[in-house]
Amino acid sequence: MYIDGEWRQAAGAKTFEVTNPATGEVIGTVPDGGRDEALAAVAAADKAFASWSRLTAYQRSEQLYKAWSLMIERKEQLARTMTAEQGKPLRAARNEVQYGADFLLWYAEEAKRVYGETIPAPRGDQRFIVAKQAVGPVGAITPWNYPISMITRKVAPALAAGCTIVLKPAEATPLCAVEMFKLFHDAGIPKGVVNLVTALDPAPVGEVLLTDRRIRKLTFTGSTEVGKMIAARAAQQMKRVSLELGGHAPFLVFDDADPIHAAKGAALVKFLNTGQACISPNRIFVQRSVVEPFVKEFTSRVAAMKAGNGMEDATSIGPLVDEGAVAKVDAQVKDAVAKGAKLLCGGNRLISNGLDRGTFYAPTVLADVRPDMLIYREETFGPVAPIIAFDKEDEALAMANDTDYGLASYVYTRDIARAFRIFEGLRFGIVGINDINPTAAAAPFGGSKESGLGREGGHDGIAEYLETKLGGFSI
Ligand code: NAD
Ligand code: MN
Repeated sequence: MYIDGEWRQAAGAKTFEVTNPATGEVIGTVPDGGRDEALAAVAAADKAFASWSRLTAYQRSEQLYKAWSLMIERKEQLARTMTAEQGKPLRAARNEVQYGADFLLWYAEEAKRVYGETIPAPRGDQRFIVAKQAVGPVGAITPWNYPISMITRKVAPALAAGCTIVLKPAEATPLCAVEMFKLFHDAGIPKGVVNLVTALDPAPVGEVLLTDRRIRKLTFTGSTEVGKMIAARAAQQMKRVSLELGGHAPFLVFDDADPIHAAKGAALVKFLNTGQACISPNRIFVQRSVVEPFVKEFTSRVAAMKAGNGMEDATSIGPLVDEGAVAKVDAQVKDAVAKGAKLLCGGNRLISNGLDRGTFYAPTVLADVRPDMLIYREETFGPVAPIIAFDKEDEALAMANDTDYGLASYVYTRDIARAFRIFEGLRFGIVGINDINPTAAAAPFGGSKESGLGREGGHDGIAEYLETKLGGFSI
């Protein structure tokens, strides 16, 4: 753990093991922290806040630039740690490290653009000045699916704004976090500004972040269930919250689009990170007249995907995070098939060629999916693509919006008027229009409804760490 600028063990030198989900091998151990370590980290972040928040934006920017350039230097090593610990193919891990580095660069620049306002006052002897100031020490909780970029997506804007931070990474991927905090240390970020507490049981550390009054803001990426708990508990002390939670992305294919092009896009985005992404399509709606060519192209692409260890070049799809994820995916597939869905490929755990040592599930395509099936409503977070045929635009839009989630959505159409109608009609924070990758450090990422609160990335992303202060001056 990294607390107040120093590497520390947990009380009693308690540790926990980290395993490779592709092989089941233990690849490292990390300190198993708890309440005491979390309190020490909060104290360090609180102490450092006074000086860090008073540096000039140029000084804070300088530190973020250094961290960015180290991240580019260490790209290969970080990617290899990620593949070993999280399982995604090495190519995808490299892309994630680059995406993670992009946040450090963007917020190194954005730090210098935290503008205030002057506002005309109603009285002649009055002046209004609006300033933006750092909210205070931040508690951050990150997930295992994007174990590096979710760290920089929080740390970079927080530091740029003048906040200090205590971060608890997911218990499945603490090694990526340790590598990132080594990098922050080497970049010369002053002691106490960034603190890392690793823990096997997230609850005691979470409890400190939720209840210690020195923490003024919580930022979380993970399940909707834990996100709701955090929002409810944060309300007790009116802590600010940013929540990036689950999704159930609809993917709409209209008959004016090229079904082959759409199938190619759908196959790429659905199986990204083995479907373990909050922006993963969870229902693919295809207009009836193009269902046949779409399904044919889509299924042949999916059937050709090679599951395996992400360190091997041929691998296009990695393992699921753990046994629980395999069981959840398999239960959704069995439920759908029992209720009449057609299994077009996959539908089983992969156990041959040594894959039994890991947690692999075959890339799966289901057709004729209906609203009474679990997969129609529940987030899958795995490699299963459910396909649903539709007839009319209104019907497709109504089905797409019929979910409590509101993160990402996708539409394929070549009709410009329809593209606008669907863009405006989809109740989601992100809409990809003939685009399967509508994300970048410069763009606001986040959801509506039960997918969360707030945005990460772009100029919206730094606002989450800033308080508005009004100065009324009588002159
Ligand atoms: P989770 O929400 O339990 O874990 C996310 C983070 O929250 C981890 O760091 C975890 O340690 C922490 N956490 C969990 N319980 C906590 C508590 N009581 N107090 C403080 N921190 C706590 O997610 P999971 O169990 O890893 O995955 C379950 C499901 O969540 C997935 O199947 C998926 O649907 C969703 N999920 C979404 C994302 C995303 O990117 N939005 C990421 C991971 C998981
Ligand atoms: Mn959980």
